[in-house]
Amino acid sequence: MPEIDMMLCRSCGNEERASEGYPCDECGTFICLICEFRGITVCKACRQKKGLPEPENLPPLAPERPAPPSA
Ligand SMILES: [Zn+2]
Ligand SMILES: [Zn+2]
Repeated sequence: MPEIDMMLCRSCGNEERASEGYPCDECGTFICLICEFRGITVCKACRQKKGLPEPENLPPLAPERPAPPSA
């Protein structure tokens, strides 16, 4: 089974597939598809740098992925 290329979204902090993400408008770091879909196109660091508020529709940080049940 090929390993899925996961990256940490610099906007919401969730791990999402790198191949489905977008670069931050400002610095080009990884932004996940969910953020992009919600119209969030800059990462957290760039929001802070620009003095932008955290978006109200920022995807919630997912809890720790439950470990797959061991057979
Ligand atoms: Zn995100
Ligand atoms: Zn950025």
